[in-house]
Amino acid sequence: MTSAVNKTPEIVRSVDQMQQRCLALREAGKRIAFVPTMGWLHEGHLSLLREGRRRGDVLVLSIFVNPTQFGAGEDFDNYPRDLDRDAALAATAGADLIFAPVASDMYPRGYATYVDVEGLTEVLCGASRPGHFRGVTTVVTKLFTIVQPHVALFGQKDFQQLAVIRRMTVDLNLPVEVVGMPIVREADGLAMSSRNVYLSAEQRRQALVLSRALVMAREMAAQGQIAADAVIAELTQLIAAMPDARIDYLQICHQRTLQQQATVDPDSVLLLAVFIGQTRLIDNGFLLDSAPSQG
Ligand code: AMP
Repeated sequence: MTSAVNKTPEIVRSVDQMQQRCLALREAGKRIAFVPTMGWLHEGHLSLLREGRRRGDVLVLSIFVNPTQFGAGEDFDNYPRDLDRDAALAATAGADLIFAPVASDMYPRGYATYVDVEGLTEVLCGASRPGHFRGVTTVVTKLFTIVQPHVALFGQKDFQQLAVIRRMTVDLNLPVEVVGMPIVREADGLAMSSRNVYLSAEQRRQALVLSRALVMAREMAAQGQIAADAVIAELTQLIAAMPDARIDYLQICHQRTLQQQATVDPDSVLLLAVFIGQTRLIDNGFLLDSAPSQG
């Protein structure tokens, strides 16, 4: 299967058909590159697809708003969905196949198996969203088993998720190369996210405080302010000045352990989750330039 860019990708709904298809592609010697998403594609997703296009013979995109990674009262029902729109965008990035299963096929009656990664999942988003990572690791394991990818691409936008998936892939000996990709931002700095559609114009303006906090933290570190408490205190003030912003977490952590650090060093990542109104946004970045990338 070769991929003329702009050819509309084929959409496969059935779990069994997708798995048969992918097993046959592997047997035919094709290298499968895979980008799992929840859809409502934006340039961040497309950057992963383009890199996947480069790394595989067949480029597979999954679009599945996975119910097990949403908590009660979260935005599962409202999450934006438009398969036709996504298929047209995926075509521009050269996707060959879109796997878009329905929840009842992924989690049929009697479903009882979950994957849990310990240690990395109790902190940060895991603390705020109990059960979230169990849903993520379970669905990614299932998707890996169905799609049988040689290489899978994930964004550093979800820094903790990437760390957790790397851990899981190593621990379970999954024969998949996991590639981390840089955060794609709007021109003004806002990290692209499907959830940005929830923001009003005024909230969109206030949401810039996340990327501004990152810039401020990097400037402080570059000027020698490496006491994490002092950096966090400044950023807390910056964010508190936004009337609709509420900090969920704001931490400086080691890039691999995700444990909080007292002092900024080249492994330090600032991770933040901030509610702007009802919308929870996340962002992150290394604080010193010499940091080796997680990618
Ligand atoms: P999602 O559809 O939000 O589950 O995201 C699917 C994949 O796209 C995940 O690996 C995300 O980390 C990645 N992603 C989302 N937003 C961005 C972004 N702004 N830049 C790079 N990757 C992203």
